[in-house]
Amino acid sequence: MALIVQKFGGTSVANIERIRNVATKVKKELDLGNQVAVVVSAMSGVTNQLVAYVQELSPLTSAAAWAEYDQVVSSGEQVTSGLLALCLHEMGIPARSFSGWQMPLISDSAHGKARISSIEAEAMHKVLNSGQVAVVAGFQGMTPEGRVSTLGRGGSDTSAVALAAALKADRCDIYTDVDGVYTTDPRIVEGARKLDKITYEEMLELASLGAKVLQTRSVEMAMNHGVMVQVLTSFADKPGTLLVKEEEIVEHKRITGIAYSRDEARITLTQVANIPGMSAALFGPLADANINVDMIVQNVTEDSGATDITFTVPKADLEHALKAVQGVKSTLKYKSMHTDRNVAKVSIVGVGMRSHAGIAQTMFKTLAEKNINILVISTSEIKVSVLISEDYTELAVRALHAAFELEKA
Ligand code: ADP
Ligand code: ASP
Ligand code: MG
Repeated sequence: MALIVQKFGGTSVANIERIRNVATKVKKELDLGNQVAVVVSAMSGVTNQLVAYVQELSPLTSAAAWAEYDQVVSSGEQVTSGLLALCLHEMGIPARSFSGWQMPLISDSAHGKARISSIEAEAMHKVLNSGQVAVVAGFQGMTPEGRVSTLGRGGSDTSAVALAAALKADRCDIYTDVDGVYTTDPRIVEGARKLDKITYEEMLELASLGAKVLQTRSVEMAMNHGVMVQVLTSFADKPGTLLVKEEEIVEHKRITGIAYSRDEARITLTQVANIPGMSAALFGPLADANINVDMIVQNVTEDSGATDITFTVPKADLEHALKAVQGVKSTLKYKSMHTDRNVAKVSIVGVGMRSHAGIAQTMFKTLAEKNINILVISTSEIKVSVLISEDYTELAVRALHAAFELEKA
């Protein structure tokens, strides 16, 4: 007997008919003699609607407001957990729903983007051992103060992997609206190819660089706890993509996948004094404001003794970031500040980069041929990212997909 955690995303539970379909997937695992804990998202579109209600009422500038945000936006998952449990009852399958606080799944108090600190597995094991299916509302937890928290958009993936780790489950199946992890978002590149396997490390990079198919923290958690994760579709009966260790893939292609993100904005400061301490003076206040700076580039023009600094921050934090920078203007003595929201980050990812040369060059040449200007570049061992005008996002992704021959197996 195996213990399986199944997670169903918003499109898989979008209406009652689809919830019935989900119940058949649960039954299939039970018929194999397995124990099943299910994690559900809100019906598709529901979380967006709840967020919109909150934003209509509040600019969300205080911790108290964010606590209420969580109270509201967590509610979509409560509905689907109850509905799926009811549906299972109707099929003669014993089941019970759990909200985050009922497990409990304890998180920190960072409302809106809380991190999980622990999950109580004992009670859940009892329920499973008694022959019931546990249906868990994803995306939500409870703070040490007893308030409802949410784990950031896409957070049900993390709920599922965390639950799988806590229960020491044999596998965590993430059911979504595509049949696995693709070489890039199949919604923008027709020739995108489904991968049978992908390394945890590559999936972590792709997720953090914008591939929404798994929430970044879920991959991080799977990697740290050795959780076996499979991404597959709830709309057909076929194998998906398995997250594996690097040595389980025999031959690595030059790159494995391409991700893009439209979530960042660019800030450029011109003629910052070229003396020690300027970067610390600039990025310190941004860190204090809890703003994640991503790409950074600094150019010194030899004759002026001044330097231009360009960096990116999440679009949602732009206003906040500008305030923080203006607060240190007297120290930095920059001449002007420019911002650009119309940017996108396109990244190529692959562990094959470690052993193949000329990969960045192929990327730059491909973009040059399409006349796409590169604004900022950043690299790590297994990725190269470029910042470009948002208007060219899809063109860039398609051109790179072709240049690296990712449609070919
Ligand atoms: P769910 O509601 O099931 O959590 P999401 O919308 O969060 O589903 O994630 C699935 C979506 O991720 C797909 O519909 C697809 O458009 C997008 N996506 C982006 N990059 C990839 C990729 N490399 N492989 C598969 N899907 C991707
Ligand atoms: N319903 C939440 C969201 O839309 C969590 C999730 O679907 O994973 O972000
Ligand atoms: Mg998702």
